[in-house]
Amino acid sequence: MNWEPWTGCYMHSDGCANCYFYGPHAKRFGQNTIKKTDKFDWPIRKNAKGDYNIKGNKILATCFATDFFLPEADAWRREIWAMIRERSDIDFLILTKRIDRFMTSLPADWGDGYDNVNLGCTVENQKAADYRLPLFLSYPIKRRFIACAPLLEAIDLRPYLHGVNHVSVGGETGRDARVCNYDWVLDLHTQCQAANVTFWFKNTGSKFAHDGVIENINPFKQTSRARELDIDISDGKRLF
Ligand code: SF4
Repeated sequence: MNWEPWTGCYMHSDGCANCYFYGPHAKRFGQNTIKKTDKFDWPIRKNAKGDYNIKGNKILATCFATDFFLPEADAWRREIWAMIRERSDIDFLILTKRIDRFMTSLPADWGDGYDNVNLGCTVENQKAADYRLPLFLSYPIKRRFIACAPLLEAIDLRPYLHGVNHVSVGGETGRDARVCNYDWVLDLHTQCQAANVTFWFKNTGSKFAHDGVIENINPFKQTSRARELDIDISDGKRLF
C-alpha cells in the first residue's frame, strides 16, 4: 500500500529530469508547491469501533510521489514520525533522494532508529552513489536499502553493499526516458549476489537496451518484462 501524506516536489538531481510525477511531460508538471494531502493522518485513523482503519502487519510505502525529506515538510514530519512510532505494527518504507537532510529531520527519540522503518536511498548514477551512500551508511538506521532508479549508467555499489539488506533497480518511464541497459542491471545483480544482498529488478523503463536492441516498452509491461528475465534474488520475503 502507498501513503502520500503530502504532494508536490521539484527537481533535485539527474534522476529527476523526467520525473514520472513532476517532469516536463507529467500530469503534475509545475506542481512545485508542497501541500498536505487528505490522507495525511491515514495510518492512525480509526473507525467507529475505535480500531485502526489500516490493519497491522502491512508494508506502507510512503512518499513515492514526493520526497519524505523535503524542507517544506519539516514541520509536518514531526507528526509523521509520531504516527510511525504509534503504528509499530506496520513496516514503513521510506524512499528519498535527499538523504543528506536525514540528521536534521529526526525525532528526539530516534536513537539507533525505529524498528519499523526501512529507509531507501535512491541513486541513479555513480556520482549520486558516491555522495549519498557514505552518508546513508553513516546514519543511525536499522534497516536500509538502495534503489537504483532511474538507472542511468553502470554503478559500482560494491563499497556500500555491506551496510544494506536489499537493492532494487528500475529504468526511467516516460516520453523522453533515457535508456536502461540490461548489462548495467546484470552487473548490479552480480554485485548483490556476491555480497549476499537481495535484489529486485523492478521494471525495465520505457527504453530498454537488451541484446543489442532498444525495446520501447509500454509502462504497463515494464514490470512483467523485468520479471521475465528472472534475475531477482529473494530471501523468501516480499521484495520491494
Ligand atoms: S525527488 Fe522524486 S518525486 Fe521529487 S522531482 Fe525528483 S524524482 Fe520526482
